[in-house]
Amino acid sequence: MTDNYADLTIRSAHELLKAKKLSSVELTKAYLARIKKIDQRVRAVVTVTEDSALQQARKADELIASGKADHLTGIPMLIKDNICTSGVKTTCSSKMLENFVPPYNATVVEKLNHAGAVMIGKANMDEFAMGSSTENSAFFTTHNPWDPSRVPGGSSGGSAAGVAASEALYALGSDTGGSIRQPAGFCNVTGLKPTYGRVSRYGLVAFASSLDQIGPLTKDALDSALVMNVIAGYDPRDSTSAPEPVPDYTKGLTADLKGMKIGIPQEYFVEGMQSEVEVAIKDAIRKLEELGAKVEWGVSLPHTRHALAVYYIIAPSEASANLARYDGAKYGFSYKDTGSMWEGMEKTKQFGFGAEVKRRIMLGTYALSSGYYDAYYLKAQKVRTLIRHEFDQAFEKYDALVTPTSPTVPFRIGEKADNPLQMYLSDVCTLPINIAGVPAISIPAGFGGGLPIGMQVIGKPFSEPTLLKISYAYQQVTDWHKRKPRV
Ligand code: GLN
Repeated sequence: MTDNYADLTIRSAHELLKAKKLSSVELTKAYLARIKKIDQRVRAVVTVTEDSALQQARKADELIASGKADHLTGIPMLIKDNICTSGVKTTCSSKMLENFVPPYNATVVEKLNHAGAVMIGKANMDEFAMGSSTENSAFFTTHNPWDPSRVPGGSSGGSAAGVAASEALYALGSDTGGSIRQPAGFCNVTGLKPTYGRVSRYGLVAFASSLDQIGPLTKDALDSALVMNVIAGYDPRDSTSAPEPVPDYTKGLTADLKGMKIGIPQEYFVEGMQSEVEVAIKDAIRKLEELGAKVEWGVSLPHTRHALAVYYIIAPSEASANLARYDGAKYGFSYKDTGSMWEGMEKTKQFGFGAEVKRRIMLGTYALSSGYYDAYYLKAQKVRTLIRHEFDQAFEKYDALVTPTSPTVPFRIGEKADNPLQMYLSDVCTLPINIAGVPAISIPAGFGGGLPIGMQVIGKPFSEPTLLKISYAYQQVTDWHKRKPRV
């Protein structure tokens, strides 16, 4: 295999495999070698699964030889380490699950296996997906391949940095408040958060169950469609899974946006936004107009300003309930050296969880406590409904809304680590989308001072085909997504 990993996509690698110009074993070995060579610098990967990857690659080569290859057959990828993989450690980048080996696969992993995919490793993340920089990983911080002194975003920072640094051809991430889109924006890759219920959450370690969604991080919109074709769909094991039929996401991808109506919500051009971000996104919007879209400025979604507050009530509340299971008795880290069961539980949590996770559990427990439930949790749920209605109304008029993915370019490692509120603010543009349960994608849309800038495209429930179409069209007339960092 040549050394031009950077130019390969799922689609082009698939063509090479199909034409027998390359075997999956060769491709897999090449990516494993790449990880060995550069991941000490990027630190995207928590566990490299060399043996099982080569086994999967051999199986993929058999599938290809028998003419039964899917687009993902034999293609090396990374899975975020909060998605359960049978027989392979799933740590959530937490000391609590440092040695946890799930006895089962998440549904998305089952689906990928069925398609003949090759998993070469598990990707680093903020502990239990709480964070925006990967600095909350209990193991190590991932570096942005565009500038190693900067964060890759988070919580799916390992997934995004891994794809950007060509350590894999795509990755799965999870997004509760922006964790696919924000790191995608920071690392110059394409990241899709599907509609809530579109992709099964079975086997995704729960953070905030009413917000979590799994989605792909890829090199372009077409690859995103190819991954969605495999992972989307109803799953009886996930009670919130949608019975909606799954379209072919590659259909209708054209470089023509005629007839498309796009709204630009003013509240997303927030105070404190960096001017290079604003300039890049406005340029990108002009490109969409040139492609035939009708763009309307000054759309107003006034409840957006409450989204951050609502998120930081609902997400910690759900987290506090979901994380109660880590008590040292069932699985995961267990502090044993104590006299009583209660002390054991207390110490398990004290030493098993990092500071941010503890902060969320305390926030959530407080918001749900009997004296405060009505004032905080119930109120937040009511505002959530208002936010959702506001999106519904906007989508009566527009096919999509376009915003920046983040108000800033990637910040420096350590810059916000001691200031949780500053860190939380880096997700102002992505949080409202999970609150409303609608889909959104982040695509590369320019650079500021050599650092990537992402554009977010938001749609109504199950409009992933529209989001992919807009992204695909934009990527036909721009080459931001083709630019690669020199690692
Ligand atoms: N950064 C947000 C948080 O810390 C979102 C995380 C996510 O989407 N998993 O909660």
